[in-house]
Amino acid sequence: MTKHAAYPSEDVVAVVAAPVPVSRHFTSFPPLKDAPLDCKKHVVVDLSASRDAIMGGSWFESMKASSPRHADDAEHHGDWMEKHPSALAQFEALLAAAKGKQIVLFLDYDGTLSPIVEDPDRAVMSEEMREAVRRVAEHFPTAIVSGRCRDKVFNFVKLTELYYAGSHGMDIQGPANHHLQANAEVVHYQAGTEFLPVIEEVFGTLTAKMEAIAGAKVENNKYCLSVHFRCVREEEWNAVNEEVRSVLKDYPNLKLTHGRKVLEIRPSIKWDKGKALEFLLKSLGYAGRNDVFPIYIGDDRTDEDAFKMLRNMGQGIGILVSRLPKETAASYSLSDPTEVKEFLCKLEKSAKEDAPDLASSGCT
Ligand SMILES: [Mg+2]
Repeated sequence: MTKHAAYPSEDVVAVVAAPVPVSRHFTSFPPLKDAPLDCKKHVVVDLSASRDAIMGGSWFESMKASSPRHADDAEHHGDWMEKHPSALAQFEALLAAAKGKQIVLFLDYDGTLSPIVEDPDRAVMSEEMREAVRRVAEHFPTAIVSGRCRDKVFNFVKLTELYYAGSHGMDIQGPANHHLQANAEVVHYQAGTEFLPVIEEVFGTLTAKMEAIAGAKVENNKYCLSVHFRCVREEEWNAVNEEVRSVLKDYPNLKLTHGRKVLEIRPSIKWDKGKALEFLLKSLGYAGRNDVFPIYIGDDRTDEDAFKMLRNMGQGIGILVSRLPKETAASYSLSDPTEVKEFLCKLEKSAKEDAPDLASSGCT
């Protein structure tokens, strides 16, 4: 029986990491297409089918119960780290695997570039992180892939040289300053525009419903909605669930997924962060090429679609940001945004060795 967390709440959990074995995980590098996964299928709730079975009142309890808050989880953390070693500890080997290939970076925002905070509107990234992203993007095409709407995530990151895939990849654009960059491809794509009026309507309905639940917050991400319950008392999590479910009964063309203390409502179209990754690679001219090495870094359940896409492609690597063991299709791990910044800095420093004319790194 697995002790891995299924993307539960994790904020107050501290686990002592076991020492990470070195050079044990590259016999099948990059991940083989048919490599076995010990991860469960990404939970996508089809409201037209098994909504009652999956979204019943026990859902939140099972999510809480799967959280590894027990003392013996430390030993399982060691096992997990063997399967998903630190991308920092394995950096040199990772770099060797990417040698001669074009690295393309895909970065989630919340929990990856910024810490998870109680108020999602205050999830700002540090200047140091912004500088690390800016510098690494001088060397590699870099995209931000977020569940938030594109404008909002751009206002957090504020780097015009990047590609932005907002609303879980349904709204893609960039780079804004392509005229300043040689070889920069202008990308624009919007999926599911016909759903915009419905999303707006549900936003209004849910906002009114959530006023009765202290701490609940509905965020309009243009092509999708996020119902945050990070600030809701646990006793009321089921009430949030029930209210959302009752509203969505009238909208069979919308589907529900969940992330870290957030319920997410999206159009029922086959589009996700994995599709966004695939689209961007194709737009950049890398489709079907074996000399490209995508690196996707993310912390949330919705990032699993991108990790799986990379496994299916048999190219590049997925890196899960997590302090705790989680079922994941990612090959590597980083513990938190601080380690993400360190990883980006190392990547930039190594790239700079091949382009010494660029300004020296601001990373320390
Ligand atoms: Mg995230």
